[in-house]
Amino acid sequence: MKMRAAVVREINQLTIEEVTLDPPKAHEVLVRIRAAGVCHSDLHTYRGELRAMPPLVLGHEGAGVVEAVGSAVSKVKPGDHILVNWVPSCNQCPTCLRGQPNLCERLPSTSLAALLPDGTTRLKTLDGVTLKHYLSAATMAEYAVIDEASAIPIPADVPFEVGALIGCAVVTGAGAVINTAGAQPGSSAAVIGCGGVGLSAIIGCVLAGCNPIIAVDVFDSKLDFARKLGATHTVNAREVDAIEAMRQLTRLGPDYVFDSVGAAATISQALKAVRPGGAATVMGMHSLKTDVPIPAGPLIAQNKRLLGSFFGSAKPHFDLPRLIDLYRAGRLPVDDLVTKRYPLDEIHQAFHDMEAGHVARGVIVFPG
Ligand SMILES: [Zn+2]
Ligand SMILES: [Zn+2]
Repeated sequence: MKMRAAVVREINQLTIEEVTLDPPKAHEVLVRIRAAGVCHSDLHTYRGELRAMPPLVLGHEGAGVVEAVGSAVSKVKPGDHILVNWVPSCNQCPTCLRGQPNLCERLPSTSLAALLPDGTTRLKTLDGVTLKHYLSAATMAEYAVIDEASAIPIPADVPFEVGALIGCAVVTGAGAVINTAGAQPGSSAAVIGCGGVGLSAIIGCVLAGCNPIIAVDVFDSKLDFARKLGATHTVNAREVDAIEAMRQLTRLGPDYVFDSVGAAATISQALKAVRPGGAATVMGMHSLKTDVPIPAGPLIAQNKRLLGSFFGSAKPHFDLPRLIDLYRAGRLPVDDLVTKRYPLDEIHQAFHDMEAGHVARGVIVFPG
């Protein structure tokens, strides 16, 4: 079939163009996309700053309606609403069986290589160039073919944009707090960087019962979003020394500091700011290519912990439905994360608004 998609033919070349999509194979699902979140990792990928390389179709946060399924698919059927899970773990390798499917051994050759699990793609440009599926998802398109392990059913009363965000930003941020760090009620927490993932970490801190919850960013607009989502204090790191501000609010430093920026400076800041014995957690895909010099002295003498968190240390088929349930119970304010909607043609504007700090999260929406 033919459809319109956000195509990155070469680094820094993003266009909306018509492409072809082959039908799903036996274990795959064809989804009509209704919402696709605009995430920093899409931007970093389009600029060639992450591992997956063009030519590809962009997008990895998504939700939509199942249009057709392959002959071996039994978990979903046409008409079902699903969110796209970009971690199609195999549930058979030793790492999956150990209980860490977010680190499934096939991910380097699937999501991280921008291929479907059988190692191929269903996408081509009209002039015959094979396109990869960013993070095995490629959701910035009218339709997507995904592996059945990437399809997580959602109830029909959950908005598609909410499902899309739960599948990446929310599970990454809230999962880092709850699963990776295991934050305890009454513990103090700070979140550096208040984009979609950082704001989701603030939502996670609220769920975990943290107090205080300190939001750190350089945009007042993003700090306003943070306060709305449950931050008890905000720190503009352009105006004050953020580490000093975090210490003043918590005496020795927060029990937990979460970095969503992924820059060497903010990762170092997280480790410095956390109290002796506390844990600094680095989350978000854009940290993947960062090198950070770590002073070993304080790490040891102050018994600090530095943790990496990939996909919120989540078990996708357990945690994503659990987050959907929390949303339906009114405990996960994902609606407040969505601050702007764009048609696919305005994708450049969506990336611009994200970089300028104008949005908590922008979402590409497709007509029903
Ligand atoms: Zn596996
Ligand atoms: Zn994302």
